[in-house]
This record gives sequence, structure tokens and C-alpha cells, in this order.
Amino acid sequence: MNADEFRKAAHAAIEEIIQYNQDVASGTLPVLPNIKPGYLRPQLPAAAPQHPQSWQDIQPDIAKSIVPGLTHWQSPNFMAFFPACSTYPSILGEMYSSAFTAPAFNWLCSPACTELETIVLDWLADALHLPKDFRSDSPGGGGGVIQGSASEAIVTVMVAARERYLNRRADAKGLPDPSPEREEWIATLRPKLVALSSDQAHSSTAKGAIIAGTYHRTVETTWQDDLAVQPDALESTIKKCIEDGREPYYITLSYGTTSTCAQDPLHLLAPILQKYPDIWVHVDAAYAGTALVCPEYANASTSASPSNSNGTIPTPEGLPTNGTEQPPPNPPPPTQPPLPSPTGLLPTGPAVWSHADSFNTNLHKWLLVSFDASLLYIRSRHALTSALSITPAYLQNKHTDSGLVTDYRDWQIPLGRRFRALKIWFVVRSYGVEGLRAHIRRTVRVGQRLEALVRQSEDGRALFEVLSKPAFGLTCFRVRPGAVPRQLLAQGGVVEGPGESVETENTMDGSPFGTVEQQDGEEEGQAEKAKAQPTETATAENLANK
Ligand code: PLP
Repeated sequence: MNADEFRKAAHAAIEEIIQYNQDVASGTLPVLPNIKPGYLRPQLPAAAPQHPQSWQDIQPDIAKSIVPGLTHWQSPNFMAFFPACSTYPSILGEMYSSAFTAPAFNWLCSPACTELETIVLDWLADALHLPKDFRSDSPGGGGGVIQGSASEAIVTVMVAARERYLNRRADAKGLPDPSPEREEWIATLRPKLVALSSDQAHSSTAKGAIIAGTYHRTVETTWQDDLAVQPDALESTIKKCIEDGREPYYITLSYGTTSTCAQDPLHLLAPILQKYPDIWVHVDAAYAGTALVCPEYANASTSASPSNSNGTIPTPEGLPTNGTEQPPPNPPPPTQPPLPSPTGLLPTGPAVWSHADSFNTNLHKWLLVSFDASLLYIRSRHALTSALSITPAYLQNKHTDSGLVTDYRDWQIPLGRRFRALKIWFVVRSYGVEGLRAHIRRTVRVGQRLEALVRQSEDGRALFEVLSKPAFGLTCFRVRPGAVPRQLLAQGGVVEGPGESVETENTMDGSPFGTVEQQDGEEEGQAEKAKAQPTETATAENLANK
């Protein structure tokens, strides 16, 4: 493909992408594809083509074979998991990143790639109200790095934690570094190490422990305690590990668990953790962490939810809106008593996060950046680089030797890396921090509205029930056991929903905040539309499969 052919192909591809996004935003595409496993192979040739094909031959297969097999995560009717936002500025960032392809593993390999990443991560550390210790210019040598996923971020810090623990223990024993005795002693200690997380933490911590070659033990949580780690449970788990001859070296605490968005109360756990200063404390805020862009989340200081009694988010005084934001209509009051295990907001803010050695959040979940962009902040870059830096002759250069540059290859598992900072830069500039806040607040309201509608239907004949109090933008509900005849589920029949459709966020319909914006201002119109088109959310099969 030459430049002229690329121009034509790219224009055609962009038109198709815009049309796709408009179709998805309209909610007319079913969320789940209507295909069977193995649908694609019969549609494609058995072997790779021997001769070049033109874009005119390739492009039609997108509509013919690929789109029918997509799950439309950007659909306003997509209600599973956490969101996976995508926006046009982010797509533009991906285009440039691809055009400038360079496996920029060290500063010299593409200085702009490294320097933009450092700057953008410092911007975001401030925008998310993280402690100054996590900035690249902090006296303690902290900083941020973009990883592909939360799982990658977690396993990376687990390895740093393991090495820090082992070396501290070897230093305490007075073993010279390096020395064969030290190496031997560390090799005998390593199999005793144990990583901790709650039984609600994402599975990436258990997987990280497998990769790091250590044990993993969970701290039990209960519904009564909002499925969050409690100080007693933490201390008894640590003590039990030690009694069993294991040595805890790492813990993941969650700010927003995957199942219910529970928050482990770091402010209460810190006094326990301070008794075990060699345990590395990591905060996994993969989804909920981006809410910290809003001061009402970042500086929460009581265990009250930011919702007022009407279930609406107050706009904090002095915080400008983006000019289009209208107060949402108040949903009807809940028709049942409050749930026994409300998940309120826990104290956050720099002082709380200061107890953590590291922190990760995924911009590609909730903050308008396309997959993949997981931010990892660390208090001591030395802990990472001393665990992960290996510099053979082909990686040596005078800039690295000068100590004046950052080589992100030492902050991650792979050597090469993509220019992900571009898409983050574009998104932050296109929306501004105020725009990001407006997006978070708007989508939190969508969750609250969904909760109100689900509760509204809880009158004995109801189809759904809320499982835990909505936290951030997450509302967990289920088909009430026994509410739907099994045969109906098996047939995938359409059952009556709560009478109104709720649309989740969509960021790709041409307006900066997608249908969430419309939902605020055009409540009636949306409801009419929903009645006219039965949605995926009212399909029993769809609910059963989620
Ligand atoms: N941590 C939490 C709390 C999550 O909810 C998830 C995924 O939803 C992950 C980690 C893993 O994310 P990733 O796919 O970026 O590895």
C-alpha cells in the first residue's frame, strides 16, 4: 500500500468507523453477537493469501465477517462488567502511535515517547489527587508508568515487592551483596513468601503470585463488613501465615473490587500494616480509581456516600460544570428498606494513599481512553528498577549512564513499549479535567438511576433485585431467584422488564458525553425510544448470560 492508496483506504476506514459508532450509539445493534462458536472459520480461506489483496477486497470483510462477531461494549445497552470507554481523541492517539511505531524501551529510542509519558502521568497524579510522592519529581524518587493492564501492573509490583523483601532480610542478616552465600540464603527464603489480598480482590493478585513464584493467601471478608478487609481479619491472617512458617511480603488492597466495588479501608488497616513495614502495600483501583478525578471522591473523609437522600450527586460548591450539565431529575425514593450492607465511600485523599507503596488505575475502563492504558504509580522507582533492570551491552548508552533520563524498560516486564501517552494526552486535552469529572459524575448518576428503577420494581412480582448498594457507577442486580420461569430462560424469550430502559454510557455518538448527556436532558424522549425498541436488557437470555 503506497501513500495514495493509504489515503483512500484510511478515509474509507474512518467513514466506516464513524458509521459503526453511530450505529452502536443508537442502541439498535444487539449487544451480543448472534453467532455460534467457530462461526468465522468457514467464512475465511483455509490458508493465508499467497498474493497481495487490495483494500477494496479487504474492507468489506469487516462488515461481513467481523462486525457480526463483535460484542458491542460501547452500546448504551451493554451492562456487563465495567465499562471499556473509547473516544475519538483516543482513537487518534492510537493512529499516531501506530504511525510513529518505535519499541521505545529507553529514552534514546524515542525521547518524546518517554518524556510525554512522564509529563502526562504527573498531570494525572495531580488530577487524581494522588500524593506528591507518586510524581516523577518527588524527592523520594517516585513516578508513574503506563502498563497494558492492571494485571501487568500488579505482577510487576509483586516482583519488586518480593525482591525488596528478600534483600531487606538478607541485609538484616549481614550477608554481603553480591555473594554466593546471599544468593543461596535468598533461594531458601523465597519459597516461604506469601502474597495477600482479600477474597474479593481481582484474580490478578492470585495470578501474580503464581508468576512471582510465591504463595497466595486471602483475607476473608463478610457482607456485614461491605465485603471489605477489616483490621482484625487482616492481622489474624498475617499472624496465621507467620505461624505456618510463611513470610507475608505483599498485599493488594482494593479501591473498588470487581464484584461489588468494595473499598478496603486503608486508613483503618494502616496501623496494622505499619507493624509489618516489609509488606509492600499496593492499591488496586483499576476501575474506581479514576473517580478520584472528582474532589468529592478524592477527598472523601467520612463513610457517607456522596449521594444525598434523593440519590443524586451533589455538585460541590465552587466546582464549575461544563456548562451543559443540568441537575438530573430525582429518581423516585427506594420502595424497600436500605440494604444491610451499604458500601459507602471511605476516606481517601493523599494522606490515605500515602500508606501505599504503589497504586494502579485503568484509564481504559472509565476515563475515556481506549484499551489499553493502565497507570501504575510507585513511591520508589528504585524498588522497581533494582528488581527489573538488566543492562546488556546493546542497551547501554551515554544518556542512560548519565542518570538524567528515565528508561521505562526497567519499570515493566516487556522490553519494547507502545506510545500510549499520546492517546492519554489527546483525551485529557480534548475533555479537560473538568470534562473528565463531568463524565464520571454523569455515569455515576446513570448507575443511581438504574438502582432506582430496579428497586421501583421490587413489589413482589419483580423480576430483579439489587444485590449491594451501588458504588461509583456500578449497580449489581440479579434476576430474583424464582422470578423467571426456567423454560423462558431456556427459550431466550423476552420478559417484561421494569417498564423503562436505562442506558449506560456511550462516548461515541458525536457529543462529548454520548447518550448520558441526552439522558439528563431528554428523559422523556429516551423513554419513548426505549418503549419503541425492546432492548437487550429486557431479554431473559441476555440477562441469564451476563
Ligand atoms: N483489578 C480490578 C479491581 C478489576 O476490576 C480488574 C478487571 O476488571 C482488574 C484488576 C484486571 O484488569 P486488567 O484487565 O487491566 O488486567
